[in-house]
Amino acid sequence: MPQEILVVGSTALDSIETAHGRVQEVLGGSAFYFAAAAARYAPVLVVGVVGEDFPRASLEPLRELGVSLDGLENVPGRTFRWGGRYHDDLIGRDTLFTELGVFQEFRPRIPAAARRRPVLFLANIQPSLQLDVLDQMEAPALVVTDTMNLWIDMALPDLVRVIARSHILIVNDEEARQITGRRALLPAMRALQAMGPRTVVVKKGEHGALMGHGERLFAAPALPLEQVVDPTGAGDTFAGGFVGSLAADGRVDDETLRRAVIRGSALASFSVEAFSLDRLLAVTPGQLAERLARFTDLTSYSLT
Ligand code: AMP
Repeated sequence: MPQEILVVGSTALDSIETAHGRVQEVLGGSAFYFAAAAARYAPVLVVGVVGEDFPRASLEPLRELGVSLDGLENVPGRTFRWGGRYHDDLIGRDTLFTELGVFQEFRPRIPAAARRRPVLFLANIQPSLQLDVLDQMEAPALVVTDTMNLWIDMALPDLVRVIARSHILIVNDEEARQITGRRALLPAMRALQAMGPRTVVVKKGEHGALMGHGERLFAAPALPLEQVVDPTGAGDTFAGGFVGSLAADGRVDDETLRRAVIRGSALASFSVEAFSLDRLLAVTPGQLAERLARFTDLTSYSLT
């Protein structure tokens, strides 16, 4: 039986421009990307907030995947909005705006039954809200945390407290350097582990991911793709596959962590093939299995 996951994070409307076009006010937010990926492996409950302007019908595909939205509050005010424009290399991006809207006043209320969920994912959102959620939980067996540069700049002391209470931290390479002040990745990872989490996963975009678990290291490539349309949410999708896989395995050790990195990477490779959650929501079990097999093939070799 997979363990049940609780995710708290942004639930948003995104406006995105890439070399392949632009979309406005589409489904986005770290918690939704995460849930769409994690639900492939384990039950997920989303805690977040949207305003009265939010198109609720856009959540139907998430429900069909089995995601529970019972913790998604609907309040007066404007939904969180984020706008971003990607550089032509589809790696660099500029944030055009971040409107917290209803997240400004939000106090997450974890439903009583959900406080005992064994797996908690603190998706990207204000670190003060991540702390608030941690305080409401009843000793989750696994706490996994994500963040972004905005919060490293604006709320580092709170973020450090969140990291200290996390078992696993997922960041990208730039964030790892920004938090620790170390340029080289390995010392940055070791410094992050020294802040609390036994396991640190550093995402490196098209160059894959590097994981430190205790003393051990594991490197996974990103699947080379014919076309990247919109990288938004790739990190949250990775986290969803990663945490979902750990919840399905029901234990955290070197073997399950490595499998989780590959499953996260496979789901992230779908996410970037279309805008918003469009491709991610449409992935069939067969397509996922085929992509996982490509990962195995991509990295297997013989030294004899
Ligand atoms: P990523 O591409 O992994 O950084 O995630 C992009 C998603 O994060 C988008 O769908 C945004 O709605 C959401 N997002 C952007 N900025 C923030 C922020 N400061 N806090 C929380 N979520 C954000």
